[in-house]
Amino acid sequence: MSPDINDADCSEALHRVFEYLDGEMEAGDHDKIAAHLAHCAECLRQYDIDTMVKGLVKRSCAPEQAPPRLRLTIVESLTTIQIRYTD
Ligand SMILES: [Zn+2]
Repeated sequence: MSPDINDADCSEALHRVFEYLDGEMEAGDHDKIAAHLAHCAECLRQYDIDTMVKGLVKRSCAPEQAPPRLRLTIVESLTTIQIRYTD
């Protein structure tokens, strides 16, 4: 098994992390993202952030979806931190 052959690139992985978390992907796509996360630290970090966001949203709003504004606020603050970290 070589993770490089059927791998997603970073932009695809980052765009689909929420789908991946929700288990809404087809098996082939799911494997692609999993393979990418297995060797890409940058995307794995984003995955961890999204997992955390999802956990926060679930805890504060279950079983309803979080209002889009709340999610945006969380994601924006996390993105700000991430940009500072990268810089
Ligand atoms: Zn990546």
